[in-house]
Amino acid sequence: MESKYGGYAGKILKIDLTNREISDYPFTDRERELYLGGKIMASKIILDNLKDDTVPLSSENIIVVSTGPFTNTGAPSSSRFNISSLSPLTGLIASSNCGGNFGIYLKKAGYDALIITGKSTEKIWIEINENEVSFNSADDLWGLDTEEVQEKLPEKTGKIVIGPAAENLVRYAGIFSQERAAGRAGLGSVMGFKNLKAVVAKGNIKTNVKNKDKTKELYKKWIYKLKDSYLTGEMLPKYGTAGILKLMQKKNVLATRNFQKGNFDDFEMISGEKLEEKYLIKNRGCVTCPIQCGRQVEIDGKKVKGPELETLGLLGANIENNDLKKIIDWNYQIDKLGMDTISLAGSIAFAMELNEKGLWDNGLEFGKTDNLSEIFNDIANRKGIGDDLANGVKFLSEKYGGKEFAIHSKGMELSAYEPRGSVGQGLGYAVSNRGGCHLGAGYVILFEALYMSMDPYSTVSKAELTMLNQDIMEVCSASGICLFTLQTMIPEKIIKNPDGMFAKITNNLMTKNVTAAVLRKVNKLNEDGLNVNLPNVPHIKALESLTGMKMDFGKFREIGERGYTLDRMINLRRGLKATDDTLPKRLTDVPQDITNKNSKVPIKELRDKYYSCRGLTKEGEVTEEKLKSLKMQEYCK
Ligand code: SF4
Repeated sequence: MESKYGGYAGKILKIDLTNREISDYPFTDRERELYLGGKIMASKIILDNLKDDTVPLSSENIIVVSTGPFTNTGAPSSSRFNISSLSPLTGLIASSNCGGNFGIYLKKAGYDALIITGKSTEKIWIEINENEVSFNSADDLWGLDTEEVQEKLPEKTGKIVIGPAAENLVRYAGIFSQERAAGRAGLGSVMGFKNLKAVVAKGNIKTNVKNKDKTKELYKKWIYKLKDSYLTGEMLPKYGTAGILKLMQKKNVLATRNFQKGNFDDFEMISGEKLEEKYLIKNRGCVTCPIQCGRQVEIDGKKVKGPELETLGLLGANIENNDLKKIIDWNYQIDKLGMDTISLAGSIAFAMELNEKGLWDNGLEFGKTDNLSEIFNDIANRKGIGDDLANGVKFLSEKYGGKEFAIHSKGMELSAYEPRGSVGQGLGYAVSNRGGCHLGAGYVILFEALYMSMDPYSTVSKAELTMLNQDIMEVCSASGICLFTLQTMIPEKIIKNPDGMFAKITNNLMTKNVTAAVLRKVNKLNEDGLNVNLPNVPHIKALESLTGMKMDFGKFREIGERGYTLDRMINLRRGLKATDDTLPKRLTDVPQDITNKNSKVPIKELRDKYYSCRGLTKEGEVTEEKLKSLKMQEYCK
């Protein structure tokens, strides 16, 4: 359905694998105004098309690959695209964002999104070339790793592929594009179950841009801002995401020994600084990105992608490993096998503790790393103990026990941040729609421990801040822009001078009731609420100029809230309860520091505040009043 707005190809392609049929999926301009694109568009399609009892690994499940309006228009950091489906790891809605080139090529082929339904009886790969779609045998590609398969597919195309782990239905297998991954939630296994090894897209269609000159000018200023800002212009390019590992250690939030504590004696050996000093060859990153936070490193004469913060933390401190070279090797191996390093590492750490406590005799031990490479292969091929490890922490805790220290939320393993040193981050992990993900959580730890120092144990403002961040991150992602670009929002004065007067006053103010009240008001802003230009959020004016849609902060935030609400509705329909918005007892009941009784996540108090702030019922349900206020009446009964 063609669009009057700039930034859209105007078509969504639907491919039914069962009957090998293609069709256009209708999406109106009204829906674009409300749901924008990317992950929010995908959630709407899933809510409207999936039955509530659909099993993730079934032909009824669908995969939606979607782009945002900024994709293929030259905006900074705009090559990110989204993949959504029901997750085999959590059984709930999941989306995973990827920085490879597929999104740009899908848009060049003339589509804003791709919907894959059904299941192929044969192993196949698909090529999309503008209006033509071909189904090709993948017999000779099956079994190849994510690097090999991309080499075999046609050049000068955008690709998404899976590796052996997804073919073997590992519950945290990802989907890969170039060397980037839509890693989380096991969406690769949904492709594997459908016998779909890869999708390739190409074309020459240009995306329409409204207000061309003005948009170009705004993009130019935006790029300048990203390069000029300390975080996006200095820290991320120099050390990548790993640059915050030392800060995590300092603030006691570096998950160590299966989240038994928040600091690791050998942290310097696995830090971003050490990676830069010993292995970095050059920066890498997604196309169209001026930040280039990715790393290219060299080991044993081979140039490979360097590990990111989560991998360093979880395959380092959390399993008590201080061997950086091993982490680099493993990272490359796990990527080729096609798995999510976060869930895999979380499963290994939990299995180590199960073994230590005599609950599962599996041979895995904290600090013992000589057998791990073999175990990773076994997981991808579901051999030996790898077969159980391939199902993730929640499954392991149901089979072997240890639920109180099974570090997951809703079935998804937590990222590398120990939330007892950052209780707002703990709340976010618990209420995130896709489970234990730092980004879906709202990333409040940035304010509690990393770039600012608001009281990490106070519950004041945490619910409000979590909601605000979640909504802004939802809409940023849906627009097609990398979330790291939002880091220009944090005042540099505070980051560069954390002990200065301005930082102290701001940190103090953040946990005052008056601030919580102001944040609540901001969270209620809708399209008529704040019609001002925020120079630190250049996304908003650029989006208005690109699309021609009226856009202001209130409207922008409200689109994000719709995204959160859609995902919440899908999960509620699939049986989610308030008691699922939680964390394991280790994090909620056991203080991280025995001298500080507040160093644990007071989940009940925080969750109640959060539901109230979001306008949900006490049971966490979405009300008709909320749907009406968000103009989502079509979902009222
Ligand atoms: S900041 Fe990093 S992850 Fe984001 S678009 Fe740039 S290179 Fe990709």
